[in-house]
Amino acid sequence: MIRILNYSNGVLTEPIQNNWLDNVNPATAEVYSVLPASDSEDVERAVQAARLAFPNWSGLKAAERSTLMLKLAELMERDLERLAQAESTDSGKPLHVARNVDIPRAIANIRFFATAILHTSTEAHAMDQDAINYTLRQPFGVAACISPWNLPLYLFTWKIAPALASGNTVVAKPSEVTPMTAFLFSKLCIEAGFPAGVLNVLHGLGPAVGASLVGHPDVTAVSFTGGTRTGAEIARIAAPQFKKLSLELGGKNATLIFADCDFEHTVKEAVRAAFSNQGQICLCGSRILIERSIYLQFRDAFVVRVNQLKVGNPQDASSDLGAVVSESHMEKVLSYISLAKEEGGSILCGGERVYPGGENEKGFFIAPTVIEGLNQQARCNQEEIFGPVVTLMPFDTEAEAVEFANSTAYGLAFSVWTNHVTRAHRIAAQLKTGIVWVNCWMLRDLRTPFGGVKHSGVGREGGWEALRFFTEAKNVCVKI
Ligand code: NAD
Repeated sequence: MIRILNYSNGVLTEPIQNNWLDNVNPATAEVYSVLPASDSEDVERAVQAARLAFPNWSGLKAAERSTLMLKLAELMERDLERLAQAESTDSGKPLHVARNVDIPRAIANIRFFATAILHTSTEAHAMDQDAINYTLRQPFGVAACISPWNLPLYLFTWKIAPALASGNTVVAKPSEVTPMTAFLFSKLCIEAGFPAGVLNVLHGLGPAVGASLVGHPDVTAVSFTGGTRTGAEIARIAAPQFKKLSLELGGKNATLIFADCDFEHTVKEAVRAAFSNQGQICLCGSRILIERSIYLQFRDAFVVRVNQLKVGNPQDASSDLGAVVSESHMEKVLSYISLAKEEGGSILCGGERVYPGGENEKGFFIAPTVIEGLNQQARCNQEEIFGPVVTLMPFDTEAEAVEFANSTAYGLAFSVWTNHVTRAHRIAAQLKTGIVWVNCWMLRDLRTPFGGVKHSGVGREGGWEALRFFTEAKNVCVKI
């Protein structure tokens, strides 16, 4: 049985209280490793290590931090296949997805911020003839980075890379549901020669490790990605201590399809937007709004394509969908499908658990599910399901499409499909969301602001936004 260990003060360690959690392979339903059930004592030790490491780490030249991070990226590249295998086993996602998307993106995150810090600049404000202001952007100390299970190494590195590159030290908490690649990553940090305490990785349950990290007085900033309810709990603890907070939360994204879209391309991409990673991406388009004049044509073409998706062993190159991440998550998604029927929806395809046979017979697989006939206010159209489930709805006018899209508590990433260029811009400006894709989905440029509005979060990640979050701006005013 593999034992995942914490990475604290430069070494791999067992949890102080010697408590452990089981780690399940969702494609087989078997426990295949154990991870530390860390607690506030482990947090205390890691935060103190990070605090002590801060002066030296922040005192390095940007080029020195960059060199170390680029070496780490090289080691990740060397171990890409091993990391991809681990990610697939831990999360249930198809191996080809981990190999082609998750791990390359994790490597790109490290490289992006390792090189971005070589090209930063800050503002200057001249006052008439007699004074000049300039802005210093300085690291602040210890940052807490808390990440979810859906894109484990990808989102873990998306936070720690800008935090470390800026000169902060970090205590990170990956999801207890998918801890394996953060553990392998810890080993690579040691091999790359990271100084002790610069990055610490603690495993364990959110309310035990995450909450005590957020509440720790020596943690200055919290960067969190996860569910909206957890984000609210983190804000409740952090706000009275005036910590910097970045919250990337849930979504209920709309895919807006107009009659003048490029039909075949749109059907194909709407399927991808709905079911990538078993629908477990905060950016997935889970509400598909279709102009009424093409509703039936689109619906039928969409269902044909969805029926072609293969659900099965994540190791198998032909599997389009693997397992969802856990038994409890599978039950939650299935309960929403039952709810959709109670709310008057019709299941056009899918709607049930899949039993792929062999070693995967007991795994947590769900058929991609398409539902129509629900009204806008139905819970299945308002609440985040975060699984392979989409709803289809017709609209009559552009204004109605915008109203439907904006009707939930969330506002993360919407996509608009039309060849009418002015309409695309007009709608993009009206959507209450952090990201709009026009005629594409999940096309990512790491320089752009990333984040949501309303219950989808507070703050932005990506590019300079992330480097700004992980530094304090200090104005220096010099009288000439
Ligand atoms: P989650 O909120 O349950 O957990 C996320 C992380 O927070 C985990 O590491 C968990 O251990 C920790 N945590 C739990 N309770 C905590 C507490 N009280 N204090 C501190 N930390 C705590 O979310 P999840 O189920 O792992 O991930 C799925 C959710 O994440 C979905 O809602 C999804 O939309 C969202 N998500 C958002 C983005 C984005 O960029 N906006 C990206 C990916 C996922």
